[in-house]
Amino acid sequence: MKELVCITCPNSCRMMVEQKGGKWIASGNRCPRGQKFAEDEMTCPKRTFSTTVRTAWKDVPVLPVRISQEIPKENIFDVMEVINRTTVRQSIGRDDVLIPNVLGLGADVIVTSDCLKEYLEEEDR
Ligand code: SF4
Repeated sequence: MKELVCITCPNSCRMMVEQKGGKWIASGNRCPRGQKFAEDEMTCPKRTFSTTVRTAWKDVPVLPVRISQEIPKENIFDVMEVINRTTVRQSIGRDDVLIPNVLGLGADVIVTSDCLKEYLEEEDR
């Protein structure tokens, strides 16, 4: 028996999860998504995350980015390493793909702000 908090929605249901007949069964969840979260969490936990990436411009030193879809929790530090080794050297803005299919995980690293693009457009004027 394991206690989990479902992070799928803001209700944050506190659940008990136990293995019965080879399946993980959740209780305490207010909706079926809690059962799915519990199964995933017990077999292959996944997460999305947001962070920042370095740029080559001192006036806009970092750019916010996010992962386009959930990746296995165990790969988060490896993906963070890739992002930390990256320096943005091109004009790139919101929803642009910075790193496609990072580490072959099927998720892209996506830019979430136009701050660099706007800065470079301003510089060109
Ligand atoms: S079990 Fe359903 S209601 Fe509860 S936190 Fe998860 S998604 Fe939200």
